[in-house]
Amino acid sequence: MDPKQCVVERIEQNGGWVNTHAHLDRAYTLTESNFNNSYSYLKEKWHLVDEMKARSTVDDIYARMAKAIELFLSQGAQAVGTFIDVDDKIEEKSIRAAQKVRADYGKDIEIRFANQVLKGVIDPKARYWFDLSADFVDIIGGLPAKDFGREAEHLDILLSTAKERGKLLHVHVDQFNTDEERETEQLARKTIEHGMQGKVAAIHSISLAAHPKKYREALYELMREAQLHVISCPTAWIDHNRTERLSVSHNSVTPVDEMVPCGLTVALGTDNICDIYKPFSDGDLWTELRVMLEACHYYDIDNLVKIATTNGLQVLGIET
Ligand SMILES: [Zn+2]
Repeated sequence: MDPKQCVVERIEQNGGWVNTHAHLDRAYTLTESNFNNSYSYLKEKWHLVDEMKARSTVDDIYARMAKAIELFLSQGAQAVGTFIDVDDKIEEKSIRAAQKVRADYGKDIEIRFANQVLKGVIDPKARYWFDLSADFVDIIGGLPAKDFGREAEHLDILLSTAKERGKLLHVHVDQFNTDEERETEQLARKTIEHGMQGKVAAIHSISLAAHPKKYREALYELMREAQLHVISCPTAWIDHNRTERLSVSHNSVTPVDEMVPCGLTVALGTDNICDIYKPFSDGDLWTELRVMLEACHYYDIDNLVKIATTNGLQVLGIET
């Protein structure tokens, strides 16, 4: 038996890979001069990309996105969901590039766009760009950690915007691999409060795995009640630095092996490709699935195939 062959053939039979999370407008922006920024802390990277964003032309951004889309097509992908930056640094340039990408590649692959709010959504300038981009994107995007201390307000803005416009919502949560974070729980509670069950996806939810079993089990139950989808980008966070803080033993990967048996819908993403966030990431979808199954010791072929295909379509709101 060749288990890889078995999984890959079944992914093809299901129409091909679905990459549910990426930042293609920043793909291939790694240079010799910014390579050392790869060691910076995540919250510093949110600003370190500003200069590149300000300098990039619509053509530059289009070229990066097109190169990445062609990479996914070469792997037999049927759909991709990508965030695009929309803020006072990049202004509307990624939107314009995304429009051209959809016009040129939309017949070959399903593409869904979400707005990345690297400046938050509370600061009035950031809110201006968030509102402007909310009309264009298919999926409202969020990053509550950017509005640290005001995460509830951030989520209220995202959820009410998504609800008003009848759109899905994808939110980056629990990225720092620590039991000090409870963002997935907060997102599940807010989803229920706003009546948005089944419309929201949690991206990453790494920190959930750092909590004790009792908390995790209660949270899975809450997530099921909220019908909260989960997007795992395995290589994106496997690089977490070790710390001296004690926690239950775990890999810094979304605990897919626990979530799927609890009835949660999990999908797969590459996240950043060849930029200062993930310099060595090459966007290989098999690599992502392989790291997930190894890190979670999860060999359920039926569900791995669903994670790589139909679950992704559901999370991106693509009718099957
Ligand atoms: Zn992301």
